[in-house]
Amino acid sequence: MPVAMDTLVSLSKRRGFVFQSSEIYGGTGSVWDYGPLGVELKQNIKRLWWRDFVQMRPDMVGLDAAILMHPMVWRASGHVEQFTDPMVDCRECQHRFRADHVDARPWLHFCPASKGNKFEIPGGEACPRCGARRTLCPDCGKGELTTARQFNLMFKTFMGPVEDDAAVTYLRPETAQAMFVNFENVLQSMRLKLPFGIAQAGRSFRNEITPGNFIFRTREFEQMEIEYFVNPHETVEGRPADEYWHDRWIADCMAWFRRYGLSEANLRLREHEKDELAHYAKRTLDIEYRFPIGWSELMGIANRTDFDLKQHAKFSGKTLTYFDEERKEHVVPYVIEPAAGVDRALLAFLVEAYQEEEVRGEKRVVLRFHPELAPVKVAVLPLLKKREEIVKTAHAIRSELAKHWRVVYDDTAAIGRLYRRQDEVGTPYCVTVDVQTVGDADKGEQGDQRVTIRDRDSMQQIRVPVRELVPVFQELLAGGDWATVAGRFGGPAAGAAG
Ligand SMILES: [Zn+2]
Ligand SMILES: [Zn+2]
Repeated sequence: MPVAMDTLVSLSKRRGFVFQSSEIYGGTGSVWDYGPLGVELKQNIKRLWWRDFVQMRPDMVGLDAAILMHPMVWRASGHVEQFTDPMVDCRECQHRFRADHVDARPWLHFCPASKGNKFEIPGGEACPRCGARRTLCPDCGKGELTTARQFNLMFKTFMGPVEDDAAVTYLRPETAQAMFVNFENVLQSMRLKLPFGIAQAGRSFRNEITPGNFIFRTREFEQMEIEYFVNPHETVEGRPADEYWHDRWIADCMAWFRRYGLSEANLRLREHEKDELAHYAKRTLDIEYRFPIGWSELMGIANRTDFDLKQHAKFSGKTLTYFDEERKEHVVPYVIEPAAGVDRALLAFLVEAYQEEEVRGEKRVVLRFHPELAPVKVAVLPLLKKREEIVKTAHAIRSELAKHWRVVYDDTAAIGRLYRRQDEVGTPYCVTVDVQTVGDADKGEQGDQRVTIRDRDSMQQIRVPVRELVPVFQELLAGGDWATVAGRFGGPAAGAAG
């Protein structure tokens, strides 16, 4: 049973993952802020994506382009003309709807068969009393709807001090165009050979008319996009290079999401039908995830052919080609585009990680994040906060570990409570400092300089020397196996789970 969206929204707010934007003013529609833990999680997602797809690969380079681009970019890309949704307006209440979504909405009806009484009727259904179907505004039940008009989804703004048509520019609706516009710069400065890719993670903006579902569809969002350029005249393993690389990227992206915890059962591929393919695309696949709202797009992987480079060559008058030394010819590369949304990936990881279980008659909420994704890696907890030596040692351990990872110290509750709090935000390990660690100078007892490491998932505990904490966590946080590590330290302490 997948977790309900409301449960995640409430956990996200309570524990500092995601807040509604400008909440004290009533909020901003479909814009969200990432709180102290959300920002860590989001950065981890972007960092891992960058490490795995840019840093580790010899055929990839990065880019960080400006959000404001030349307005001609959006003419060349087709966004000014075609990045639109058909909209209808209510002449009474002025509410605006996507023309293709209006029929699916529940609608208000003043029924003539029952003295004009008001009813709410489910989307797409007729009135059971008079048999009428909706023709008026679904929200007020009174207003006529205008005919559909195209509404551009780009946020418009003005560049410079004069607010006239010549100064109009747009907040980018996607990061991709910057890679095409910089194709020549990157190619020349880095002396690259095909195939190669340019990656960028950054903000994009879309003035969605019917956004919603928490951070699934928002007006301001972050993308992780790759434009992978291939020579269309080459073949790899007997297949056209673009088709070969398209399949490779689909497999690599699927593997990436699985590696960081999304389960096979919640992932699937969906091939775009011919009639939904963008006009420039040869083939597009979506990786879909089973979100609480049902199967929905997690990322898209498109074969955009040579459309973009040709368009920008045409509109800029510059040559955007690659010289194929072997064939002694200039070619316009084909582009494979794996495009993922950071916010959607974060939501998917959150959905997948969330679990409720019963531990000794009590409900335990736990986020089973992959350790590399977890916002906090280790929490250091003193068993007794009245004992100065214990508190001092715990702080010292925190500062030592914090050189490597995000580590917190907490002494604001009893130990059982502190464990539950860390479980709820997905901290994979807790370190507990107790009397045994520091000893008791008054009684002449030496401490053993060992601390307890408690594993989030199994709730097992092991005793580990303080000086070995860094190497132990290096192993565990890179995905090392708990049982193997526990075995080296004499196995989990009997009866110490909690
Ligand atoms: Zn209306
Ligand atoms: Zn009726």
